[in-house]
Amino acid sequence: MTSSPSGVRVRFAPSPTGMFHVGNARSLLYNWVLAKQSGGTLVLRVEDTDAERSKPEWVQGILDAMAWLGCGPDEYEGPLFQSAFVQHHRDAIDKLLAAGRAYYCDCAREQVVGRTGSEHKGYDGFCRERGLASAPGRAVRFRVPDEGQTVVRDLVRGEPTFDNATIEDFVVARGDGSPVFLLANVVDDMVMGITHVIRAEEHLPNTPKQQLLWQALGHEPPVWAHAPILVNEKRQKLSKRRDRVALEDFRAEGYLADAMRNYLMLLGWAPSGDREIVPWDDIMNEFRLSDVNPSPAFFDVKKLRAFNGEYIRAMSVEEFISACQPWLRGEFAPWRPGDYDEAAFAAVAPLAQTRVAVLGEIVPMVDFLFLPEPPSDEAAWAKAMTGEAVGLLGEVVAAFETVAWDTDSLKRTVEELGAARGLKLGKAQAPVRVAVTGRTIGLPLFESLEVLGRERTTNRLRAAITRLG
Ligand code: GLU
Repeated sequence: MTSSPSGVRVRFAPSPTGMFHVGNARSLLYNWVLAKQSGGTLVLRVEDTDAERSKPEWVQGILDAMAWLGCGPDEYEGPLFQSAFVQHHRDAIDKLLAAGRAYYCDCAREQVVGRTGSEHKGYDGFCRERGLASAPGRAVRFRVPDEGQTVVRDLVRGEPTFDNATIEDFVVARGDGSPVFLLANVVDDMVMGITHVIRAEEHLPNTPKQQLLWQALGHEPPVWAHAPILVNEKRQKLSKRRDRVALEDFRAEGYLADAMRNYLMLLGWAPSGDREIVPWDDIMNEFRLSDVNPSPAFFDVKKLRAFNGEYIRAMSVEEFISACQPWLRGEFAPWRPGDYDEAAFAAVAPLAQTRVAVLGEIVPMVDFLFLPEPPSDEAAWAKAMTGEAVGLLGEVVAAFETVAWDTDSLKRTVEELGAARGLKLGKAQAPVRVAVTGRTIGLPLFESLEVLGRERTTNRLRAAITRLG
């Protein structure tokens, strides 16, 4: 492996066992920023040793997420897989055994649980001095020093200190010879020359054990940084079963990568001044792992949404139109590609841009332009098509046949016809809106009608009158 000029080598080491968790995205960003700031190198290692849960589509999801966030690895010849390092894992286990730093153990799980209560938490060291040889079914355990302390140098947490006496002789290879995650993860980092391990707090309890392995294998341990756990509004740790955590879902709803990056960086860290929405360059200049707060960070979807709205409004109209494409004629569009009309969208885009917080919200706003028929929403009909509606719609459609087709003339027409029936504009335009767009809320109505055109507008008004009998 090559080394970078600064010597800093970080890695992103996700497991391909599900959707891409926002906590993983935050770890990726912290790693990526540190690599960029220091002129170092970020590498990707896919930790696929859980063969049952690892799937190729999740590997693709990792690559897509990294590309979307703009945080790709610096060295890449296809992903490096943990499973490809298995010989290194075996060699490390042999080395520990040869040095007397590990031993075989044939205790059944029930025995281990039954005998606890000694100084060591968990396993009590029963097989430590039995000198068992290798045999099928025998696990390998690491011999944790009885005395002393393991001091972890953690950029976020200072120096968490663990009494070795409280650490059990943990398993490094299972009875079938397969290395456990804890060991594989350390050996890979060693082989890859990793200098800084930046990951989520969930792994902090593993860290003293892993650091002991680094030392027993004759290496200087890396610098660690454990970013704070993410919690929901009830201060519960985010759970993929209960909370919204999948980056893929946020992306499909129309969150912007820029807003996401900015927001994720703040889960544990704050830029200078009283700012939250900050240019990426400022984040790159200011971010320090040592400023990350170790307390749990609230992953506030409402706030993320507000961020996203601000990022959307800060775009030029051209950027907004381009960002909306996946919802207009891409994978998320509910109409046929041929029904999309670029000029029509361009005409309403400035109106839509100020009204959406996530890009996916443009779909219900503009579907009246691209679906052959407006969506039929019974509740909207019930609300708007009251007593005066049929009569008023009849007059509106007659006037719309000949009126000049521009926003002001259309508005004036409905205003005057409504006034003649004692209706304010808001009341008078409601049945027109529902007849034409199928909805009670949406973009400013008369601008919308101007873009939709005389023919489609009057056809829909007539269809509504027929429907109302
Ligand atoms: N594969 C582990 C995870 O996804 C990463 C562990 C690490 O970063 O050291 O949680």
